[in-house]
Amino acid sequence: MSNQPDIIVLFSGGLDSILAAKVLERQGLKVRCLHFITPFFGSAKAVPYWRKVYDLDIVSQDVGEDFANMLRQRPEHGFGKVMNPCVDCKILLLRKARIYMESVGAKGLATGEVLGQRPMSQRRDTLHLIMRDAGVSGTLLRPLCATHLPLTQMEESGLVDRTKLLSFSGRGRRDQLDLAAELGITEIPTPGGGCRLTEKENARRYWTVLTLLPCASNEDFTLANLGRQFWHHEDGEHYWLCIGRNGADNDKLAAAVQPDDMLLRLRDLAGPMALARHGAGWPRHVLESAAAQAASYAPKAVASGGPVAVRVRQGQAEGESLLDLEVKPERLEQVWGETPWDDIKVVIKAEARERFEAALHSKHKPSQAEEE
Ligand code: SF4
Repeated sequence: MSNQPDIIVLFSGGLDSILAAKVLERQGLKVRCLHFITPFFGSAKAVPYWRKVYDLDIVSQDVGEDFANMLRQRPEHGFGKVMNPCVDCKILLLRKARIYMESVGAKGLATGEVLGQRPMSQRRDTLHLIMRDAGVSGTLLRPLCATHLPLTQMEESGLVDRTKLLSFSGRGRRDQLDLAAELGITEIPTPGGGCRLTEKENARRYWTVLTLLPCASNEDFTLANLGRQFWHHEDGEHYWLCIGRNGADNDKLAAAVQPDDMLLRLRDLAGPMALARHGAGWPRHVLESAAAQAASYAPKAVASGGPVAVRVRQGQAEGESLLDLEVKPERLEQVWGETPWDDIKVVIKAEARERFEAALHSKHKPSQAEEE
């Protein structure tokens, strides 16, 4: 029997995407779920669990660098309430899904979107715009609300039976929960979770990385998810320090290190790992203040009352340390800090206003910011 899927479902792991896949499977279609991963959403680790619990064919694809690139260039349709570029995100993911669909010879795409569920990105006109800009008009099916929408090629060709598709709409969850019960789905994912770009605490980290690094990458945004984050600004330079909160963070920091990063760790006492991004180029006094800040999160170092040795090594190189610094553990709040979300929000709005005005002065119609 051929393993070629008929249809690719964009699979977030949320209930709507599970239901979309199951509704199509119920028609006898061969469904493959495609789960996208970025530093902001998606989880490679969850895929085996989903496969087992929902009995679905699921593959994953990392699109973090494409997403970082979209953020660097700024999303054409703006950000939502926080830093979520929902319209551009959906266009990007659908483009990627179309490429995947063509590569495996599937005949169409599907999503779990429901008309009117979100104020902007699931409005009828926005759904249409997303399809057009992603180049998937006619090949994208939304099984949960299909009967509200025009016929797709898959329905016209008879591959998909439109009479077995659904007419959900609006923000309520009752229809979805009833359908889940009918399909025997007992593991119901929590609604709404999953995208860190909608959370202020995460978004302020991402915005700082996006605006202070010359070319923020997938790896940089991944690092922004880890531990405690601090920035120091001096003479027009920006220094980025990440300090682990626990053993899991420390392991992830060690794995995230790049060749010109510095890893800092107490030489003789237990304590957190700290990563200085591009730290190989930092002046000695900045590295020392970073070491003091990192040591201040080690209770034993603080309790010692005196200077402690912090071992600093570059990149992944094991063996000989590059240098040992003697520092007094100290919380340097005037030196190492994080910008509060309220300040960042003002900057994002000002930038959006500037883009809007620039668009007004050009011949193009300005795009609207998301309102999710
Ligand atoms: S909430 Fe996040 S994952 Fe969902 S569409 Fe918006 S940016 Fe994309």
